[in-house]
Amino acid sequence: MTKRQSLSPMKRLKVFEAAGGVCHLCGQRIQAGQKWDVEHRIPLALGGPDDEANMSPSHKACHVLKSVDDFARISKAKRQKIKHFGARKPSTFPKPPPGYVWDWKRSRYTKEIA
Ligand SMILES: [Zn+2]
Repeated sequence: MTKRQSLSPMKRLKVFEAAGGVCHLCGQRIQAGQKWDVEHRIPLALGGPDDEANMSPSHKACHVLKSVDDFARISKAKRQKIKHFGARKPSTFPKPPPGYVWDWKRSRYTKEIA
């Protein structure tokens, strides 16, 4: 994952003013005294750049909700990648030869003990 740079108060203010003090998640104004975060519009984990153009202010509460959503999207993106590269294991085992059973402990087929 890309390393997040810590934002100076000046940069935070710049991001805040560029957005007109509006939370980009719920579209409501961030009031004085409300807790807010600088948010990456495109999450870093999804390839978003770690610069001001990719940053917007959001309420802390909105950010928490968004992070949960991002996490789901990142997991989905990872799953799609795995699928794309065919790295996923087949969900069904090939048929065992007659008289053999799958030995879970050894992860191989063993002769069935009658
Ligand atoms: Zn909000």
